[in-house]
Amino acid sequence: MEIGLKDDIPTYSGGLGILAGDTIKSAADLNLPVVAVTLMHRRGYFTQDFDESGYQIAHPVNWDPSTYMTLAPEKVSVRIEGRTVYIQTWIYFIQSLRGGVVPVLYLDTDMPENSAEDRELTHFLYGGDSSYRIKQEVILGIGGVRMLREFGFTIKKYHMNEGHASFLTLELLHKYKKDIESVWDESLVWDFDSVKELCVFTTHTPVEAGHDRFDYELYRKVIGDYFPEKVIRWLAGEKDLNMTMLALNLSNYVNGVAKKHGEVSQNMFPGYRINAITNGIHSYTWTVENFKRLYDKYIPGWANEPETFVRVGLIPQSEIWNAHMEAKKVLIDYVNSTTGIGMDYNTLTLGFARRFATYKRANLLFSDVERLIKIAKGKLQLIFAGKAHPRDEAGKKLIQSIFNYSRELRDQIRIVFVKNYRMDIALMLVSGVDVWLNNPLRPLEASGTSGMKATHNGVPNFSVLDGWWIEGHIEGVTGWSIGPAATEIAPDESMNAIDAEDLYDKLENVLIPTYYNNRQQWLNIMTDTIAKNAYYFNTHRMMRRYVTEAYIK
Ligand SMILES: *Cc1c(COP(=O)(O)O)cnc(C)c1O
Repeated sequence: MEIGLKDDIPTYSGGLGILAGDTIKSAADLNLPVVAVTLMHRRGYFTQDFDESGYQIAHPVNWDPSTYMTLAPEKVSVRIEGRTVYIQTWIYFIQSLRGGVVPVLYLDTDMPENSAEDRELTHFLYGGDSSYRIKQEVILGIGGVRMLREFGFTIKKYHMNEGHASFLTLELLHKYKKDIESVWDESLVWDFDSVKELCVFTTHTPVEAGHDRFDYELYRKVIGDYFPEKVIRWLAGEKDLNMTMLALNLSNYVNGVAKKHGEVSQNMFPGYRINAITNGIHSYTWTVENFKRLYDKYIPGWANEPETFVRVGLIPQSEIWNAHMEAKKVLIDYVNSTTGIGMDYNTLTLGFARRFATYKRANLLFSDVERLIKIAKGKLQLIFAGKAHPRDEAGKKLIQSIFNYSRELRDQIRIVFVKNYRMDIALMLVSGVDVWLNNPLRPLEASGTSGMKATHNGVPNFSVLDGWWIEGHIEGVTGWSIGPAATEIAPDESMNAIDAEDLYDKLENVLIPTYYNNRQQWLNIMTDTIAKNAYYFNTHRMMRRYVTEAYIK
């Protein structure tokens, strides 16, 4: 549904899209025969601004695809509410420095053949109501398969990145439909096994409510008799159409995006075999310029073989420190020039940036303001960033509360909210802070990836043991945990107090003393962050695993 390749192509909202982009960038580097399909989103996600009170204002982005892509002559159509809706596609080529190329097809209904309403169907990412969403998913899934066929691709595996694309299974079922006349049992007509053989499904959401569901009345209205309702009820749920169930039932390989998330998903879907392939990031994209230079000098070839980060001990630690301080200077100068807050280069700086979904608990650090002041005054500065979904009032309130704290505490702690979190801002943040903070409510962070970006720039994580960090964390070696060990417990608000207590305790007694009084140990942690985290949490390793475990089986 979304792919984040670069900021000039604003068709992503957050981690899911960036991961898709990083995945196909690695596919190009590894010379894998892959083609990606997504929607055009001509109005983008949104540009973030704020009113006086810190309340988020979302401006639509208008961008011109013809600047970056070519419009292909191929056209296909789907049926929506009985109308024929035409689809064209723009092609963007991801060109690896190593010669590999991956085409990305951006499906687009904004063409004169369509009604004004249908032309808007591919305009907004996560905009509109459930009717708008199911239509987008018809275009993505059914339209996507048709477009690939129109181009003449022979597809050996369809990899559904989240349930948004699972209607593609219906189009494949049609293709493999058995030529049997008048049978009394519909299940004999549909060749489920052949379709399962073709499909791989990655689930990203550890909350039941996060999965796309549609009621069958809407299905009938939008999709009509394209696919028999009786059969789809077997596949996607009797009560309502669950896109995750549809994908689960028609994929031979299913996985979660971290070991823990695999287990959580397994418990959510007993009866299905859920594997786990832990996410990564595209190393070259998420390493800041001065660290790239350092790696080029001491571990050439690192970008296409991130395993070589185990040899990061070859780099003199003074050079790692200097590269870090250069990146920190870029960030602090940016923050100071845009906000006038007056941060300095030598104060321990914590960064927190991600979508402002409430489970990520952006304000956990402010659970006990008096205590925070006591710990942080003169010793800590804080940088926040992130967008809330335009309809997520709770998320917007959360941002507003950060603005309020930054004003209230102005004389004690410098706190800043950097607006319009996007890829360039993200790189500046993950490389320019000293510590990357993450404190979601367990077990709701399926993987998380921004912390992996930090590790590529020598920035250690200070994080709740959830998602990827359960696999990356060695206490005091690669960073620090917050709160108790990963457990099976369900999300529970009482965790807030427990986690906040540990957060304060470690800041006061471990992070701050180490940063100011034991620079050598701090440097060891920065080095181990690269050697023990960045070497593993990258999309090159991840893609090799998808190939051997999911694609070529
Ligand atoms: C990496 C990234 C994300 C995802 O970060 P998480 O830690 O997975 O929440 C979201 N938005 C942007 C702009 C990013 O670069």
